[in-house]
Amino acid sequence: MKGIKSCKKCKALTNGSTCPNCQSAQLVDNWKGRVVILNTEQSEIAKRLNVNKKGEYALKI
Ligand SMILES: [Zn+2]
Repeated sequence: MKGIKSCKKCKALTNGSTCPNCQSAQLVDNWKGRVVILNTEQSEIAKRLNVNKKGEYALKI
């Protein structure tokens, strides 16, 4: 998981310096549990994380 960070706001994972989802620059290193969400409408995890875009997210930050 080296170099990959999670957005503090929406939990999206990125290896850049801003969140690809909400453009926030508040990224954290110490996240846990990588999850890929492909279909936000049918995903229980997406509902739990409050995610409305497909992508990779951290379960916990
Ligand atoms: Zn974000």
